[in-house]
Amino acid sequence: MCVACQKREFQKELIRVQKREGKMYLYSGEGRSFYLCKACLQGNKHIAKIVAGRMKIDKKSVEALLKELSSNVKD
Ligand SMILES: [Zn+2]
Repeated sequence: MCVACQKREFQKELIRVQKREGKMYLYSGEGRSFYLCKACLQGNKHIAKIVAGRMKIDKKSVEALLKELSSNVKD
């Protein structure tokens, strides 16, 4: 389930990320993880705010990762 929009999506439509020391990173294989859907990745700053608030993550790190990921998602 996507942490931002709360929609259930197929696994392949979701990007696995994690929180580490209050910042968001791509999932590295260990630790607590959560998912974001591709639609939210390509969304706006509104999404970063929701994710940052809900997961208690530094908003700038969310925005930076979203920006990086959305430029990599090519569908
Ligand atoms: Zn979503």
